[in-house]
Amino acid sequence: MKRTRAIELPAEEIEAQKGWMREFAALTDRPHTYCVVTYGCQMNAHDSETLEGMLAEMGMTPAKSRETADFVVFNTCCVRDNAQRRALGNVVWLKELKKSRPELMVAVCGCMMQQPGMGEQILRQYPFVDLAFGTHNLYRFAQLMLQAVKSRRRVVEVLQDDEGSIPEELPVRRSSPHHAYITIMYGCNNFCSYCIVPYVRGRERSRASARILEEARQLHAEGVKEIMLLGQNVNSYGLDTEGELSFAQLLAQLDQIGIERIRFMTSHPKDLSDELIEVMAASKHICHALHLPVQHGNNRILQSMNRRYTREKYLERVAAIRAKVPDVSLTTDLIVGYPGETEEEFEDTCSLVREVGYDSAFTFIYSPRVGTRAADMPDQILEEVSSRRIQKLIAIQKEITHARLASYVGQIHSVLVDEASKRDAGQMAGKNEYNITVNFPGTPDLIGQIVRVKITSAGESTLRGECVEN
Ligand code: SF4
Repeated sequence: MKRTRAIELPAEEIEAQKGWMREFAALTDRPHTYCVVTYGCQMNAHDSETLEGMLAEMGMTPAKSRETADFVVFNTCCVRDNAQRRALGNVVWLKELKKSRPELMVAVCGCMMQQPGMGEQILRQYPFVDLAFGTHNLYRFAQLMLQAVKSRRRVVEVLQDDEGSIPEELPVRRSSPHHAYITIMYGCNNFCSYCIVPYVRGRERSRASARILEEARQLHAEGVKEIMLLGQNVNSYGLDTEGELSFAQLLAQLDQIGIERIRFMTSHPKDLSDELIEVMAASKHICHALHLPVQHGNNRILQSMNRRYTREKYLERVAAIRAKVPDVSLTTDLIVGYPGETEEEFEDTCSLVREVGYDSAFTFIYSPRVGTRAADMPDQILEEVSSRRIQKLIAIQKEITHARLASYVGQIHSVLVDEASKRDAGQMAGKNEYNITVNFPGTPDLIGQIVRVKITSAGESTLRGECVEN
């Protein structure tokens, strides 16, 4: 059933949290410097920006390094086993540091904490962790931290709240003055059989469009050049709330604000509407870059994955967008070694990749996640088989990427300049409208500006060019 409005946390709750932040800042016997270590996707990266915003209000400043920080917080991911293992490995590494600096405080939060039993596991196996919390109570961070510091006891709080709620008006410390993330919705309803996200992020909750538009206007006024709209499935934005704008309508309104570039991710192919394609084609500011995760090229596997589209339907959506937005740059995610995947089925993924011609692809070996349907399926694929398959797929995509990048040579692209090259200060690097890195000779005063660059050569995953007159 649809909600009548977005489920925002009461303003009094946020005000109370801001009170805890001030109270923490007033303490003298507390950590003063912090380091936030982030794993996983852009949603997590943006959550870390919120954590940093709260840390700043709590009177803390970024440490020069993880080793010297008074407080280290790990914002974890559990989408793949190796992300989880890396996070836990780093948490364990701090155990030694804490022996020599007992005042060091350690926190663990994020998706990994939302898995059943993880709170107890942290208490049992990681006695040097002072604070642990999940994704649904991130907004309570200051209160929990205050509790841990004042009581000098460990605090673990993980809320199991599938419906979740939406915290507005929390402080954010953005990592770039010219790029900004805007979360437009939380959670996912899709339950792809291999994916843990719906279990750890809860059901779809859309932020009110008025809030999103206001945030975008504010960012525009602050000089932000590019916004990235975030959601697990942005194409179903608004469907959970009666009378809310559709994603395409939201994009059309954002386009009017005048921010130079609008990007979004992630789009589920089943929900890529004609309306959205029309808006992209007609817009001034929506980048012609679309991340459209296909995951697999075989219909039996797609069905088993519960993706709710066929190979044919996916290709039809690709054709539809290319018809209206001919220069669109397509990227994707691919899984190899899904349970039961035969050699022929894997070849279907290879042929689909050739047929679409993605600019780039993120390729993953299937990673069983406890609690998901696919983890209990028979015929889990041997690691050596998956490794061989992924190598083949990477080699195919590498060739396609090179050909796609070579096709840009001679074109003039607009590039949002991010930074000077670490190796050569005379070289600038930025992203073009297709989200591809472009390197070109330039000076640091260009950082944060959009410049026109003529593409002169293509590397394996980046382009090279020369600035031309604006
Ligand atoms: S759409 Fe599927 S893969 Fe994406 S977050 Fe939801 S369940 Fe996971």
